[in-house]
Amino acid sequence: MAIATINPFNNKEVKKFDVLSESTIDEKVSSADKAYNVWRDKPVEERAKLLAKVAQLLQEKKKELAKLITLEMGKLIGESEDEIDISSAIFKYYSDNAEKFLEDKPFEVKEGKAYVRYSPIGVILGVEPWNYPFYQVARIAAPNIAVGNVIMIKHASNVPQCAQAIEDIFKEAGAEEGIYTNLFVAGDKIGKLAEDERIKGLSLTGSEKAGASLAEAAGKNLKKSVLELGGSDPFIVLDDADLDNAVAQAFDGRMKNMGQSCTAAKRMIVLESVADEFLEKLTKKMSGLKVGNPADESTEIGPLSSEDAAKQLAEQVEDTVRAGAKAVIGGKRLDREGAFMEPTILTDIKPGMRAYREELFGPVASFYRVKDENEAIKLANDSTFGLGGAVFSKDIARAEKVALQIETGMVFINEPTNSSPELPFGGTKRSGYGRELSSLGIEEFVNKKLIRISGK
Ligand code: NAP
Repeated sequence: MAIATINPFNNKEVKKFDVLSESTIDEKVSSADKAYNVWRDKPVEERAKLLAKVAQLLQEKKKELAKLITLEMGKLIGESEDEIDISSAIFKYYSDNAEKFLEDKPFEVKEGKAYVRYSPIGVILGVEPWNYPFYQVARIAAPNIAVGNVIMIKHASNVPQCAQAIEDIFKEAGAEEGIYTNLFVAGDKIGKLAEDERIKGLSLTGSEKAGASLAEAAGKNLKKSVLELGGSDPFIVLDDADLDNAVAQAFDGRMKNMGQSCTAAKRMIVLESVADEFLEKLTKKMSGLKVGNPADESTEIGPLSSEDAAKQLAEQVEDTVRAGAKAVIGGKRLDREGAFMEPTILTDIKPGMRAYREELFGPVASFYRVKDENEAIKLANDSTFGLGGAVFSKDIARAEKVALQIETGMVFINEPTNSSPELPFGGTKRSGYGRELSSLGIEEFVNKKLIRISGK
């Protein structure tokens, strides 16, 4: 895959980048390793200061950075600005809280003293996807730089300008060379880098295939890894839910980022007595939206991230319909230039169909009608994925009871799955392992070192 900016609004190539040679990669890893040996001994306040500066620069450059996101992966411009806001908030969050999170943790002992100190482990390699090009990087970079690790990022090949902009911001914020490094390398060349013994931890956000390949390298080389993979989140609507709110949230949960979020509300699972009304209202909301250039603020439907992504999604939908499902609206590519797909709602989906078992990464809602909440839970859990989920009900105790039976890493009540700096984010099953964000996110790539002082 070439490393290039290709505007998905018209599929035109804007800029191409050379991949790094093996010797340049080697030099960059050495320089990161060297930087680590200094950075790890800096006081946490100094590391926090760097993160605060990065947060500030992101805010100052919000408009220009948002334009880059929109150009490279087609996000609606308003949402691109929101992405810069949350990315900046993540850097600020770890800047404000790292000292507290990294305090020694005492353990009760009969005599003497024992505590755990959170120590950094070295160079961490993050492999990141294009769907939130700044936010995904913030999730791995902020906590690790706060703890004293240094970061190398291999970003998705279709967002090179975003990737470069993040490294530039670190430089402008005063980071010494090697603290944050952008690597222009292709995904299939990551194996060798992952095996390099100067790299101590591996993290990947992306597909199951890429995750498995990185996990294999981690296993072979006995390295810690964190994987944030795909999802097919259930969005359960119980019969006592505030239906208008549920529909509004289902729309947001499914359509945000043109449906290309790992935690998008991909499977609408609705109790029978409210199913018709829900479907009718959601159909209305997803119809007649304004299609156009994502850089234009009035656009409601922009392109997907790439021509390949649109092709793949259309194929999954067409195969599902061919197998007997119905497209209540949409179902096809939009007949125009660019990586566009019609907003689509699929019903009558049966086990074995592609939409039942695969992740649909775009504006396609899968609608399921179930007779009661037990059936809703069973269907929700009949998935190889286990990332997020949502339950809607006016009876919070009832919703919690359902939420506790959903086999995912996160369940939200009366709102779609979402993310904020102070909440742990991550999945179970084939959605990966480990957590990012919150106090848990800073504990993934550390040595929890026990110091025991004898009382004898
Ligand atoms: P992808 O193809 O796996 O790409 C993600 C990253 O992995 C890119 O940097 C890619 O590089 C790299 N890569 C590809 N093949 C690789 C390999 N064999 N070894 C190591 N790295 C490799 O993912 P995608 O399909 O573009 O992204 C969407 C997926 O990410 C969806 O499944 C989505 O649900 C998931 N996702 C999960 C989360 C979460 O937090 N759980 C968040 C966002 C997205 P190239 O671009 O150079 O191929």
